[in-house]
Amino acid sequence: MRVTGKNSGRFSALRLLKEALIGHRGWKPGWRNPVPKKKYDVIIVGGGGHGLATAHYLASKFNITSVAVIEKGWIGGGNVGRNTTIIRSNYLLDGNEPFYEFSLKLWEGLEKDVNYNAMVSQRGILNLIHSDAQRDAYRRRGNAMMLNGADAELLNTEQVRAECPFLNFDNNRFPIKGGLAQRRGGTVRHDAVAWGYARSADSHGVDIIQNCEVTGFRIRNGKCSGVETSKGFIGAKKIGVAVAGNSGRLMGMAGMRLPIESHVLQAFVSEGLKPIIPGVITFGAGHFYVSQSDKGGLVFGGDIDGYNSYAQRGNLPVVEDVCEGGMALMPMIGRARLLRMWGGIMDMSMDGSPIIDRTGIEGLYFNGGWCYGGFKATPGSGWVFAHLLATDEPHRTATELRFDRFQRGYMIDEKGSGAQPNLH
Ligand SMILES: Cc1cc2nc3c(=O)[nH]c(=O)nc-3n(C[C@H](O)[C@H](O)[C@H](O)COP(=O)(O)OP(=O)(O)OC[C@H]3O[C@@H](n4cnc5c(N)ncnc54)[C@H](O)[C@@H]3O)c2cc1C
Repeated sequence: MRVTGKNSGRFSALRLLKEALIGHRGWKPGWRNPVPKKKYDVIIVGGGGHGLATAHYLASKFNITSVAVIEKGWIGGGNVGRNTTIIRSNYLLDGNEPFYEFSLKLWEGLEKDVNYNAMVSQRGILNLIHSDAQRDAYRRRGNAMMLNGADAELLNTEQVRAECPFLNFDNNRFPIKGGLAQRRGGTVRHDAVAWGYARSADSHGVDIIQNCEVTGFRIRNGKCSGVETSKGFIGAKKIGVAVAGNSGRLMGMAGMRLPIESHVLQAFVSEGLKPIIPGVITFGAGHFYVSQSDKGGLVFGGDIDGYNSYAQRGNLPVVEDVCEGGMALMPMIGRARLLRMWGGIMDMSMDGSPIIDRTGIEGLYFNGGWCYGGFKATPGSGWVFAHLLATDEPHRTATELRFDRFQRGYMIDEKGSGAQPNLH
């Protein structure tokens, strides 16, 4: 991956020294604050990770620079800045695994591509195994991953104990019988991803328009010619919607009812502790996962709240459930003080897998259904959506991520729980 030319000269030791001498008054904002033009080639609705990544790849890989990203709040204020920062490609099904592995490869070159320190940290992810049947399932998953070019490693109890001695190995109810490791998984500083993509897109001429809400689509004779916004009408040849938890609401304005429900997911951070958790660990007997941030906080989460909502805050039963999971897995967590918690709105699709597709309306394209796993997909989603917008053809890794799979009956039901978003 090349270093993005327009950004490469802006930061250097010499520049830092010069700015130190003049009171740091010479730095420019990372991106402009432009007045919207009347018309663009492409409008992306939603300045989250996926929208900004799409704009970056449209401009830098597909040479389409007449692009606006329209964000109702501030960039990074949605789920891209609310998630637990885990990246991985440990999926089982063919419709998913090639896409997520493509995305993980893009993470590996992201910082050079956008010339931004996003703290991509491939510390590994470990899914714990608690029964013989689960070991069989994880062995199958690991094999599927390797067949798709990803890395996977099955560990026994002693190997897990050597890496994570603090786990509860004496718990007769949830014995730890091993784990499935993906060493290339890990964490990435989430808001830096939004900032890195935004700065790079801006440097290629993309207009990032914040505090501008899309309130409707102008559709005549089955063709969409632009969006109504709080700053007036903005025209475009193509409009791509990437609004995550607000997908149902937005596409409803275009007269579409999606196979998606919105649910709340919560995240938690403890006070800063000395380094203890080597990578990401997921509990296989309940829904609990944990990693440790560079500042020392334990970052953890669990299930969605389980009812439909557009509120970006969660409820107490899930707090209790997540903390119980943590205590069962690593009782020492009970000594750490919880510092903060928050919620984000998940666009839960009926089979738990995303949709990146054209719609029945000419010029209107959709990207959503990311459920609680769309952060890891950010680079892949951006690239694949840019490919679709630029060429009108699905990218080779996204041929299954289409609307018509629900009509054809070819669901990508990774969890095997059916059309029950509250159970995914
Ligand atoms: C607590 C939590 C933990 C998570 N943990 C992980 C994890 O560890 N790993 C992982 O892979 N995924 C995780 N996720 C999921 C992941 O964060 C999301 O799937 C992903 O960020 C969604 O894509 P996005 O970044 O584009 O969304 P967002 O950042 O939400 O972007 C959508 C944007 O659209 C804007 N918008 C909405 N309506 C309009 C409108 N009418 N006009 C203009 N703009 C509009 C919103 O303001 C928002 O900024 C987690 C999510 C949460 C909430």
